[in-house]
Amino acid sequence: MLPGAGPPTVTASPKHVHVMIRPYRRIFSRLYKVLAIESSCDDTCVSLIDRFSPNQPPLVIDQLKSTLDSVADGGVIPIKAHLHHQKSLAHLVQEISRKNGVTSQAPPDLVCVARGPGMAGSLTVGLELAKGLSIAYDKPLVGVHHMLGHLLVSRMASNGRLPQFPFISLLVSGGHTILVHSKSVLEHEILAETIDIAAGDSLDKCAREIGMKGVMLGKELEKFVSEEPLDPEFDRSTMEIPSPLANKAGRVNMTAFAFSSFITAVKKNIQVHYGEISNVLSSQLRGIGYQIQQAIFGHIADKIALTLREKNIKGVKDFVCSGGVGANLYLRDMLQTRLAQDFERFHFPPPQLCTDNAVMIGWAGIELWEAQKFQTDLSALPLRKWSLEELSKVKN
Ligand code: ZN
Repeated sequence: MLPGAGPPTVTASPKHVHVMIRPYRRIFSRLYKVLAIESSCDDTCVSLIDRFSPNQPPLVIDQLKSTLDSVADGGVIPIKAHLHHQKSLAHLVQEISRKNGVTSQAPPDLVCVARGPGMAGSLTVGLELAKGLSIAYDKPLVGVHHMLGHLLVSRMASNGRLPQFPFISLLVSGGHTILVHSKSVLEHEILAETIDIAAGDSLDKCAREIGMKGVMLGKELEKFVSEEPLDPEFDRSTMEIPSPLANKAGRVNMTAFAFSSFITAVKKNIQVHYGEISNVLSSQLRGIGYQIQQAIFGHIADKIALTLREKNIKGVKDFVCSGGVGANLYLRDMLQTRLAQDFERFHFPPPQLCTDNAVMIGWAGIELWEAQKFQTDLSALPLRKWSLEELSKVKN
């Protein structure tokens, strides 16, 4: 519950005038409150959002997140993610409710949940709890497309004013790399996507090839590269990383991304020029890390420019870059430089809204609800696969 100020109660006494500000829920402009859940991969997330005015951005009252620790496994194991959500989600919902005064007497007005795409087991945990809350509170349930959350969240800060439809988004993370043309809340065209692995997955695996260990290595790689200035003596010719989809006739003009060949190229170059990774000096590794990023992000920028040309996309003013890799500053720089002629405005949601979170599910739910009272039936199943282009076809 939000502390707010009610109208002052004035009591007169012979000596003083006491003005008491009595706290109560801010009903003066409150429209509705949203409880949102995200559990499509390995992050268990809940958020509470106050849509207190139709004319202002909503207030994120609170958000909680618990991420499965996959360091020892070297990647997300679906059954472990499923168990993690089962262990964590109910606690998080209880915690956010207790902290913020959500009760059956003061319930949220809308329950939003990521329904897909994602890991079926993980999605089920979120969806079933959301159905339970919807029944208990007798409030509507909105099943949200996970990628729609990523797409629309950049509009939250301006209350849906910017980016304005139509806009282009690059959603780039460890699980996806897609370029989307969004024409309205429910109309999205996928302009290009990866034909093999996601950019974030490739960054992770390339970082592993140069000896980095752990998870979220794309982020670690960016940190490592930017820690110190690059050695001007570093010989860049030791790392030849050919651009994918440029080697065969007919694929040069393919409006798609491909990232798996970067890993092979890095491995081969290290073998040929250095023998093994232990022979590479730290300053050389930093140079190689820089080149890996430049090659992968250069490929993304090339393919976006090609796609805009091939699909004759004109008159779109806004470009959004979101997803876990979207927080990388080298990528942001490159996109702004290379696409400067194509767009007027570039939008980069803050890192905490780029990675998976429940605020984006809540905001997308708000947009769906306000655009057309989009509501999901209690018989809804989690959708492991769900095309962004078929949002409106799947309602139940
Ligand atoms: Zn995601």
